[in-house]
Amino acid sequence: MKVSIVGSGYVGIVTGIGFAELNNEVIFIDIDKDKVEKINSAKPPLYEKGLEELMKKNRDKYVATSDYKRAIEYTDVTFICVGTPSKKDGSIDLKFIKSAAVEIGKALKDKGDFHVVVVKSTVVPGTTEDVIKPTIEEKSKKKSFEDFGLAVNPEFLREGNAIEDFFNPDRIVIGAKEEKSKKSLNELYSSFECPKFFTDIKTAEMIKYASNAFLATKISFANEIGNICKKLGIDAYDVFKGVGLDHRINPSFFRAGIGFGGSCFPKDVKALMAKAEEVGENPRLLKAVIEINEKQPLKLIELLKKHVSKLEGEKIGVLGLAFKPDTDDIRESRAIPIVETLIKEGAEIIAYDPKAMNNFAKIFPQLKYANSADEVIANSDAVLIVTEWEEFEKLNYKGKIVIDGRRVERAREAKIYEGVCW
Ligand code: NAD
Repeated sequence: MKVSIVGSGYVGIVTGIGFAELNNEVIFIDIDKDKVEKINSAKPPLYEKGLEELMKKNRDKYVATSDYKRAIEYTDVTFICVGTPSKKDGSIDLKFIKSAAVEIGKALKDKGDFHVVVVKSTVVPGTTEDVIKPTIEEKSKKKSFEDFGLAVNPEFLREGNAIEDFFNPDRIVIGAKEEKSKKSLNELYSSFECPKFFTDIKTAEMIKYASNAFLATKISFANEIGNICKKLGIDAYDVFKGVGLDHRINPSFFRAGIGFGGSCFPKDVKALMAKAEEVGENPRLLKAVIEINEKQPLKLIELLKKHVSKLEGEKIGVLGLAFKPDTDDIRESRAIPIVETLIKEGAEIIAYDPKAMNNFAKIFPQLKYANSADEVIANSDAVLIVTEWEEFEKLNYKGKIVIDGRRVERAREAKIYEGVCW
């Protein structure tokens, strides 16, 4: 099939290159000229394991452009993959969605053939039918579900594992109303053997939020139990190994530590909370999930102060800045509140991350960035482990004070070792 992808960030580029690998022709549309140029030179616009190789391999199957009209005219299906960030009050900011819908509408105006628009961005229930649909209809002068299709296909990939997740999803959720859109999506996903769940548009939108809210809840739950374990001298990891053996519970996502970050969980839980309040519901559990998550990284500083009572002038090493390993993404990284607190307390920070230092330096240019993790260890009085990059398992921590937020086993060799929940 011929597929266009609006927005070539984490979701867009992986989805598009994934479809190209499955022998579809793909056109990426992005307003960011730099990304367009990179993609057209077969260079990944961001770091994601395995992406560069797949881009090179499928070089003849995709192009990138900023020209909506050309892309939509040539393709059968358009996936909207633009960002849906939070506004200051936590509610969803639809500015990218709206401008994408305007441009899609304008491009559809002169197109004769039926075209399917699929919303892959995470949008609160009601957005597709109440915001995207009327915008495209107004600009295209066409009728949705008759002249063009409109469907929702939420994305569940995990950054850092995105390519693997694209080809091996647990399920594919499709919210659609008319047969042509269902048929196109069925065809596009025909080689996938996982369950395909067809539902209505609003339900598909909600499935994405309920999934992320549940996973975020599981992490905050693990951290709350983990904090209690720490005070009682119990290893929360062993507790959750035991708990996870219950088939009703499932062992994954019980990694107690310093909380969740990234572009999805915090913003999606907050957007769902705002939507709940808009419809007169008080999301008490979700509020607690966020509150626990905001306090959790500071546990690392609390533990550090047990061993270094005054941080002013102390050399504190920070290992890991990305919100999780195998990504350069620092959005909502737990490193941010940790570094902010260290700066406030006057510590001298030396930081290292294998992939995310450039992104982190854009917000914190004042830090000293090391060339290696070894350099951090050699030049600091105490080390905080913030992201569990695999290479941190190979370091020599002997003789150091290490406060571990992510369970790096090797760090236990340190002179003084504290785990956040163990
Ligand atoms: P991102 O910020 O990395 O990328 C968005 C891209 O859209 C950027 O390249 C930007 O230049 C482009 N863009 C913005 N407005 C545009 C427009 N009008 N026309 C064309 N391009 C435009 O975002 P992301 O992380 O890929 O997330 C995209 C969506 O997918 C969000 O709704 C997010 O919640 C959801 N999602 C993300 C992940 C993830 O792990 N990142 C996982 C599942 C779902």
